[in-house]
Amino acid sequence: MGIENRHISTIAAWGGEEKPLAFGAAQVPIVQSAPFVYDDVDSWLDVALGRAEGHIYSRNTNPTVGVFEEKVRLLEGGEDATSFATGMAAISNTLFTFLKPGDRVVSITDSYGGTSKIFLEFLPPMGVEVDLVETGDDDALEAAIGKGARVVYLETPTNPTLKLIDLRRAIKASRNVGAISVVDNTFATPVNQKPLALGADLVLHSATKFLGGHDDAMGGVLAGRRDLVRQVYHYREITGATLGAFASYLLLRGLKTLDLRVRRQNETALSMARFLQGHPKVENVFYPGLESHPGHDIAVSQMEGGFGGVLSFSIKGDLEATKRCLKAVKLAHRAASLGSVNTLIGIPATTSHVECTAEERARLGIPETLVRYSCGIEAFEDLRDDIAAALDAA
Ligand code: PLP
Repeated sequence: MGIENRHISTIAAWGGEEKPLAFGAAQVPIVQSAPFVYDDVDSWLDVALGRAEGHIYSRNTNPTVGVFEEKVRLLEGGEDATSFATGMAAISNTLFTFLKPGDRVVSITDSYGGTSKIFLEFLPPMGVEVDLVETGDDDALEAAIGKGARVVYLETPTNPTLKLIDLRRAIKASRNVGAISVVDNTFATPVNQKPLALGADLVLHSATKFLGGHDDAMGGVLAGRRDLVRQVYHYREITGATLGAFASYLLLRGLKTLDLRVRRQNETALSMARFLQGHPKVENVFYPGLESHPGHDIAVSQMEGGFGGVLSFSIKGDLEATKRCLKAVKLAHRAASLGSVNTLIGIPATTSHVECTAEERARLGIPETLVRYSCGIEAFEDLRDDIAAALDAA
């Protein structure tokens, strides 16, 4: 049986590593070399012209980076994959590869902050028409796509209020108009959601988050249709936002435990959401695994393993009370990331959405008292007691 037909945890451990490793190493070595050396010019030329396998220069390809790409390709079920220095490089390189003056891109209002900046600041002056639809309004999204688009850019669940998009519907609408559909799968991970199996052309990640999972490496990755991935690879090899060998090694090491980590984080997040839902100091809990979540049915229909390791909740009180709550938390880093083995906590109004006005935050449904909580792999009982004590201090 080929590795691609194995269970996701087996692919995470073995995928991309079938070829003998240098010096009989049991793990993928870090090939920390900028150029690769050829004694004879003809073999060098063969590699340059694609007639033989090999590496020439690490801005283009590198053996350690190649294993990371192959593992993610297998995990997402893509024809091909390529990688980037960060998640934002994956997103910007993908959008800039396909969008030219006169093109139209359709997306949602709640895409990740950096992505949203590309839509609002960088693409319009290039002559690209940007149509952002209110997240969760699947009718409006379908209608906007129906007007025609070169790219349809989707993200689900979203940051920080975990809104859902009906992927099947949006992807079908994209196909009908010949648009390239791209899904940011950072929050869900391939353990919980497989956009390519749902028909998307491309899936991408901030590998900095759950894929790496240890808050020690930045990276981005894109997988999907080969013809499209190759075009983005070409843009990236020239513009240069390449992933490094050492970061690849760390991401590969993290990927080995992806399935274990994410399943644990799914369970903890669901238990925490249920606990917070009944807490007297909590106003609202946002988590697609809760039956009360407006996108719950869609989440059930398109998410497999669970509903992800991130949730958010608003507390009763004001921003000062929310700050007191965060200060009292002991088992979470107050830090601007998610998806790590350590729990992470932050207030979107003072971090990811600090540049929005209060009205803009209100329009996005982000209260000042909203707390984003990314579950780590700690015992749920310890995290629950920690949050309970912090809420008492609010
Ligand atoms: N996409 C999502 C959903 C994210 O949450 C982030 C970062 O938080 C990014 C993309 C950007 O990734 P990076 O920080 O690796 O550039």
